[in-house]
Amino acid sequence: MDSYSPKTYYIRTFGCQANMADSSTLAGILESLGFEHVEEPKSTKNDHDLYMHLLPQTDLFILNTCSVRQKSEDKVYGLGKVLKELTEKGKKKPFVVLAGCMVGSVTGERQRYAFEELKKRTPWVDLYINPSQVFDLPNLLQREAILDEWAVKKYSAFNIKPVINDKKSAFVNISYGCDNFCTFCVVPYARGAEVSRSEEEIVTEIKHLAGRGITDFTLCGQNVNSWGLDRKTKFQIRTGSDHVLPFAGLLKTVHEIEGVQKINFLSSNPFDFTADLIETIKLPKIDNYLHIAVQSGNNEVLKNMNRRHTIEDFYYLVNKIKEAKPTAELGTDIIVGFPGETEDQFMDTVELFKKVKFNVAYISIYSVRKGTNAEKFLTDDVPLKEKKRRHAYLSKVWKETLR
Ligand code: SF4
Repeated sequence: MDSYSPKTYYIRTFGCQANMADSSTLAGILESLGFEHVEEPKSTKNDHDLYMHLLPQTDLFILNTCSVRQKSEDKVYGLGKVLKELTEKGKKKPFVVLAGCMVGSVTGERQRYAFEELKKRTPWVDLYINPSQVFDLPNLLQREAILDEWAVKKYSAFNIKPVINDKKSAFVNISYGCDNFCTFCVVPYARGAEVSRSEEEIVTEIKHLAGRGITDFTLCGQNVNSWGLDRKTKFQIRTGSDHVLPFAGLLKTVHEIEGVQKINFLSSNPFDFTADLIETIKLPKIDNYLHIAVQSGNNEVLKNMNRRHTIEDFYYLVNKIKEAKPTAELGTDIIVGFPGETEDQFMDTVELFKKVKFNVAYISIYSVRKGTNAEKFLTDDVPLKEKKRRHAYLSKVWKETLR
């Protein structure tokens, strides 16, 4: 591809809200550099058809990947076949950028497996960028002769206006990465150490979006409660403690921004949900729905997951939230069939569901993720058939609590 030719881009996003917010930023960067978005067709039967339609019209194609489940990674590998088919039909191959957690997993200080392994499986990729390199995209493209120097010189990360397709709501990343190292999770490797964005940057972005008519904001991070805290302090904080959280202060600041009507935040963990934060959720613009990942109803399992909270902490938190905001609706994440989970321990999770009556529950079957501490130190000893039974049983119990 000549350095002056790229004009169109398309971004395919997998995974969580953090990735969606990164994709909005990447789109904002590309549009500030003169790229135009390729529109999706109104309907396509499957990924293959979508790619066959989009790729020939696209100069720069970004796949923003997720590593949380193997299924998401497999979808990315599937693109190779489509690109081969295109080339065989004599069609143009776009410049392909692989971004997101699959790249984060093999680069930086915390690597889950060798970069070479990913490269071998994705020979069709022209450039790899990890989540901490999002704002460096113009320089990286220039290095690949995809952008002229003058374009990069004009670029200023501070002036980027994220591209939001939704007319009403937006995800805004307030922090990147995670230091919690839950034993089942790839995020601390894929997204690296936890880094908070400055209040100035966050407020500027929200004011800009509010000025364009966006009213509902979700503040995103892997662990939003610890926004603005140093590593030592954040691990001293405990459920319901009196510690004053900078994050509670940030919520109050965002609450005051003109045009903001609704504020949500994701993800929150039980271990550092302080009294201060419980008080803050009473503010009228804070959404009724709170998502707090509990993961299991049993203390032994929680310990093996390195979750830093006990089930008693969680029950205490739920009571305090309901006292502060009786209309609050709760959502959570659960893993069934974690290594060593006995029938009795699983039944503690069932008990939790009966007591708390979650409005939303994402129930997952445990699967080994390469390079995590659970893979290294624990045995995946619950048979798949039993995991599926627990998943079905808990899902049924949850549905009954909704009635
Ligand atoms: S808090 Fe735990 S589950 Fe959440 S991103 Fe961090 S390591 Fe993963």
